[in-house]
Amino acid sequence: MTDALARLRALQADDLPVHGGRTLAYVYDSGLPDIDRIAREAVAAAAATNGLDPTAFPSLLRMENDLVGFGLRLLDAPDTGVGTVTSGGTESVLLAVQTARDGRPDVERPAMVVPSTRHAAFDKAAHYFGVEKRVVPVGPDFRADVDATAAAVRDLGDRVVLLVASAPSYAHGVVDPVPEIAALAQARGIRCHVDACIGGWVLPYAARLGRDVPPWSFAVDGVTSVSVDLHKYGYAPKGTSLLLHRTPELRKPQFFASADWPGYTMLNSTMQSTKSGGPLAGAWAVVETLGDDGYLALSRRLFEAVDAIVAGIEAAPALSLVTRPDSSLVAFEPDGSCDAFTICDEMRERGWYVQPQMSYAGQRPSIHLSVSAGTLAHVDGFLTALTESVAAAQRTGPVTVDPGIASYIESLDPAALTDADFDGLLAASGLVGDSDGGGLALPSRMAEVNAMLDLASPAMREALLVAFLDRLTRPAHPPGRDDVPGAQPRRGQAVDSGTSRP
Ligand SMILES: *Cc1c(COP(=O)(O)O)cnc(C)c1O
Repeated sequence: MTDALARLRALQADDLPVHGGRTLAYVYDSGLPDIDRIAREAVAAAAATNGLDPTAFPSLLRMENDLVGFGLRLLDAPDTGVGTVTSGGTESVLLAVQTARDGRPDVERPAMVVPSTRHAAFDKAAHYFGVEKRVVPVGPDFRADVDATAAAVRDLGDRVVLLVASAPSYAHGVVDPVPEIAALAQARGIRCHVDACIGGWVLPYAARLGRDVPPWSFAVDGVTSVSVDLHKYGYAPKGTSLLLHRTPELRKPQFFASADWPGYTMLNSTMQSTKSGGPLAGAWAVVETLGDDGYLALSRRLFEAVDAIVAGIEAAPALSLVTRPDSSLVAFEPDGSCDAFTICDEMRERGWYVQPQMSYAGQRPSIHLSVSAGTLAHVDGFLTALTESVAAAQRTGPVTVDPGIASYIESLDPAALTDADFDGLLAASGLVGDSDGGGLALPSRMAEVNAMLDLASPAMREALLVAFLDRLTRPAHPPGRDDVPGAQPRRGQAVDSGTSRP
């Protein structure tokens, strides 16, 4: 038993660090060891409980209502407000779209209007639920374009069931003009969802600290639902987000019941049915421990870090902000002397994870930072590493892609990408690994791969990355398995016929 735990820890040695404030995407570090310990213990204490039936585990019902209540107060909801704890931002967004669709059974071909900077979770929702998505380009300030949104709504007419705004957007960290978009929705009697997955737990405290925060919460008339992740700036362990609705009527289509089978009546508020109470308990324990005062103090540290990083970027001759951030997300880009992808690699070598963002809709590649309160203690180290990384990237110069590979990518059809195409690309780019298992030998430096992907269209990037994920997620068979009668040969291993399993 201990052996597996020891092996788990050994496997984790290759993971990005989740504490220490040096991983500036994916994880959110309060920098408070006590909070991490309390979260861990709460998750463990409730891990085996099942949120399937709130009457069987009343502790879960109580914790969910506490969290929803906290969220509703924080986001200025009226007394009619209700909500649900979901497994994450994507589930909150999926349910917001599903609920908007099912709240309008009279609409035959439902559509939603989203800014081009919305999170990709809305694309997933459109795909899953058959809701047409009309993407409206943002203005030069990267905020949703109100006039263009109004035009799209007019064009789609009665089919529109949902307008979407972000507070803030992930890629640029700016808040959309929520009052104007919500007013458009209200005038037509349709829903307006504010995706505050990443900013919803931070912006209210930023406002209390006297920072300039545009209006975006339930305080804005016409906002019907808001998503906010606890596992981001709630500093809770992974697996919790809130989907909040202005009224119970608005939430109703989100719930699902089925008594039409011989077992228990299935009654679900989310997409999951059986669900661990662990994440809920972890989030509850963190929120109860920190409380308003704790989050305010963490936000003070967070924005001290954000301001220092922004100042450092503005002072760097080769770097510039993509736009001035409204919250705790910073996007910046280098000038022509070097490239963003190489800077990311150089930062990684210095112990920092910063997230590359591909070129999109005329924007050049950039670097995303989700700053955490825990980063404050290391801001000087961050800025030193950034200066060194830029200098190193300037020495090597902008990354280039072999023209042969570039034209090969161009010749491929994303809608019909075959295993053979993908193999050809892997071979041409030197990414194929050992002969066994068709293993992918990922280079420690990703700039060349990212530059290659950056050349591809979004559709081609999707197809290539899906093919990549498919290769990554084929289990290696343990040694000796081949001796078992009837066992499949190992991938890449020649079988009698001379062929090999793909
Ligand atoms: C993170 C994020 C999401 C998706 O949340 P997950 O928890 O990753 O599923 C949705 N919208 C925004 C703006 C986000 O930042």
